[in-house]
Amino acid sequence: QTSGTAQIGVTGLAVMGRNLARNFARNGYTVAVHNRTAARTEALVSEFGEEGAFLPASTPEELVESLERPRRVLVMVKAGAPTDAVIEEFAPLLEEGDMIIDGGNAHFEDTRRREKALRERGIHFVGTGVSGGEEGALRGPSIMPGGSAESYRALGPMLERIAAEADDGAPCTAYMGPDGAGHFVKMVHNGIEYADMQLIAEAYQLLRDVAGYGPARIAEIFRRWNTGRLDSYLIEITAEVLAHVDERTGEPFVDVVLDQAEQKGTGRWTVQAALDLGVPVPGIAEAVFARSLSGHAGLRRASRSLPGPTPAPLGEAAAARFADQVEQALYASKLVSYTQGFHEIRAGSEEYGWEVDPGAVAAIWRAGCIIRAAFLDRVRAAYDGRGDLPSLLSDETFAREIGEAQDDWRAVVAEAARQGVPVPGFAAALAYYDALRAERLPAALVQGQRDYFGAHTYRRTDGEGVFHTLWGGDR
Ligand code: NAP
Repeated sequence: QTSGTAQIGVTGLAVMGRNLARNFARNGYTVAVHNRTAARTEALVSEFGEEGAFLPASTPEELVESLERPRRVLVMVKAGAPTDAVIEEFAPLLEEGDMIIDGGNAHFEDTRRREKALRERGIHFVGTGVSGGEEGALRGPSIMPGGSAESYRALGPMLERIAAEADDGAPCTAYMGPDGAGHFVKMVHNGIEYADMQLIAEAYQLLRDVAGYGPARIAEIFRRWNTGRLDSYLIEITAEVLAHVDERTGEPFVDVVLDQAEQKGTGRWTVQAALDLGVPVPGIAEAVFARSLSGHAGLRRASRSLPGPTPAPLGEAAAARFADQVEQALYASKLVSYTQGFHEIRAGSEEYGWEVDPGAVAAIWRAGCIIRAAFLDRVRAAYDGRGDLPSLLSDETFAREIGEAQDDWRAVVAEAARQGVPVPGFAAALAYYDALRAERLPAALVQGQRDYFGAHTYRRTDGEGVFHTLWGGDR
């Protein structure tokens, strides 16, 4: 077979594929482009052809022929069965050493399966998480590639060119580890994103119902928080959303949006994987459940008349003090979410032998992705040279900060409970924190119960071995 001149081929030219193809072209690469429906390929070349070198291909064969070796084919189609179908179209056209890169939101187990099957055929399969949405794909996403170390040598430098840049100039991409590592890290990224969003939403609700502020004023508070340690993309866009006024009604936008949050599944996957790995991620789970609960309109309607307090806003001085406490509670809860997310990454890495470097993960999340935040540079620093840190909260700085925040955090959770404002994220984070601190947990009693009804046995505090007590007469 002859070699072509394009350094990369992109198949699947919906928003993500098109923008990644443009990003490669803008960075000086020759990009072969293909889409099942030819109209998208034509539209890309006619609208953006002057941005760089695109080689339109009308068939998979044409795309493959236009690539230099080793061939790099980036698949950006709908996740699931379409991805398998497209891989099957291209794999027979490729040769040993070529690579297929899946930049879609694949489940890491699918990536493990695909990588193994293609490895047996001599083809590198690079399951790659891409975060940053449409804009990120074009201007620089955070990219989380998995696969063989050899494939990263051939692909990494190109990804480093198109990825976002952190403040210190480092590209927001790095080799995450073999097979499913990249998609696993992307999955946990999305789980943390769910938790971040839920915590911010709870902070908003408290400022609204307990402090008694309107959306515009809360937007101002978020803008102020965004200049401090909470500085992040999600806080920034929250302020924008809260300040937005609905054109049709003149009401605050947030008041005319139906309060039922939707989800596509990566948050749920994060919790499912955590359950399988036996890793407690209650903050992420509460965020997924909160979206789910919000969507049960019938259940909510039927329950609206249940008794409970109606929030009574605080006076002006108390409200300002309370808002400061909410900032502390939000920061502490956020720290807990990241602690849980990094625990899950560590557990997945151990289970699958990936050797994911948590510091590298934090480093490539600093820019480009949805959870980008100043805070992540500090997470990177916490893991710097200490990849074996038992938990993010074992870092002295974070431990000190959460200690300083805890009085306010407790006050906020208590006030929320007193006034009947649901804060599942804040409360679950605090319970996790206190469970970690506890000298003794009531798990001892649970073990007693298990031994009583099921002879499940227990271990003792005062020696080795497994014990069973003969409970009551006939047991
Ligand atoms: P999408 O709506 O998920 O998928 C549309 C693309 O898939 C089109 O190019 C379509 O081709 C192609 N396609 C679907 N079924 C196919 C099949 N059986 N054979 C060949 N091609 C097929 O597009 P997207 O939003 O750009 O997302 C692409 C991937 O990136 C997805 O896996 C998504 O989860 C992931 N992702 C999306 C975002 C985001 O913000 N949107 C962010 C990160 C990752 P036709 O034009 O012929 O229909």
